Amino acid sequence: AFSAELVPQAPADPLFGLMAAYRADTDPKKVDLGIGAYRDNNAKPWVLPVVKLADEILRKDPAVNHEYLPIAGLVDFTSASQKLILGASSPAISEKRVTSLQTISGTGAVHLGALFLSKFYSPAIAAAKTIYVSNPTWANHNQIFGNVSLPVKNYPYFNKETKGLDFDGMIDSISSAPEGSIILLHACAHNPTGVDPTQEQWKKIAAVMKQRCQFPFFDCAYQGFASGSLAQDGWAINYFVEQGFELMIAQSYAKNFGLYGERAGCFHFVAAPSSSAVDEATRVGSQLAILQRSEISNPPAYGARIASLVLNDPKLFAQWEEDLRTMSGRIIEMRKALRSKLEELKTPGTWNHITDQIGMFSFTGLSEKQVGQLREKFHIYMTKNGRISMAGLNTGNVEYFAKAVDSVVR
Ligand code: PMP
Repeated sequence: AFSAELVPQAPADPLFGLMAAYRADTDPKKVDLGIGAYRDNNAKPWVLPVVKLADEILRKDPAVNHEYLPIAGLVDFTSASQKLILGASSPAISEKRVTSLQTISGTGAVHLGALFLSKFYSPAIAAAKTIYVSNPTWANHNQIFGNVSLPVKNYPYFNKETKGLDFDGMIDSISSAPEGSIILLHACAHNPTGVDPTQEQWKKIAAVMKQRCQFPFFDCAYQGFASGSLAQDGWAINYFVEQGFELMIAQSYAKNFGLYGERAGCFHFVAAPSSSAVDEATRVGSQLAILQRSEISNPPAYGARIASLVLNDPKLFAQWEEDLRTMSGRIIEMRKALRSKLEELKTPGTWNHITDQIGMFSFTGLSEKQVGQLREKFHIYMTKNGRISMAGLNTGNVEYFAKAVDSVVR
């Protein structure tokens, strides 16, 4: 039996708590800038037109049933996912150095990678069995790695002055992490800051990590959603693979397909090029399958079927790219609108970071106190760290938001 003291009350998840508070607010002017889910210009969830099409096709397909998928998931889905993230002509794929499993969206992929690392990662220096995550990072990273008892440390990432990348801090920290350490990197559209390294900076990061024999774990939750270009958003991963790293990737289809609740995602392990790479990828895959079996038995089918249909059909794929441009384009427009409204109002401070940052989120630089005032006075909901989900803004509320920010900043 549990004694009451052994199970203390846990705090509610801050983000899902924020969602509940927003829902309970009856003010018609309320604005939800909390959760990272795309909204259309009417602040409504958006089912991608390509997803509707794929759904109709699936519904008419007499071969679709509700049997279990294999442990590693739908093969058409995992192989198309490899091509999407690594490029269709990637040598890593043709050389069979990649092993991939379908997961419970990006969270499940991060977790599967974490579990595998905790069981099998054995660097020469024991202290290197530590994962370095950016400060700040997606809050769930700390919990996921903590749950599998993988020690977590931070590297600096965000420069509060410039509201851009603290590149020197990041590089210094990675350079001084023990040889063989694991480094978690956001492939694009860093959550929560919206700040990404430039390609030149990525090259420098790769060079340092190569020299220090460090292991990259890429978390990719926004491919195509950030810039509108799948290739551009996948650039960093491809660069690292070209540099011959052994690495892992957690790939989510929540944002770029709008399949949030369907939990479609993929985990990839890429072995470094060598004569034993195929063998290594096979052995790693065999262990991952055992971990997957004990955790979830096999992944959910529906979201993966939708994504697989689109990824494997050139016409649907082209429609998907169009949908990605619709989402990223609207968000980029909102960044421009917010910045120009704040500049028009002569709101104290600089606001170039709003358009410099990329993807779902912007780290506004608003203080916890200002965030509180926005909520109390203006019914605007965002996380305490001043992060806003850009998708919550639209032509109907961006001015209201800018005026509210102006009022709490003064
Ligand atoms: N990693 C990062 C950095 C994210 O922002 C997210 C989505 N919030 C995820 C992983 C995973 O999300 P999901 O499990 O919904 O794919």
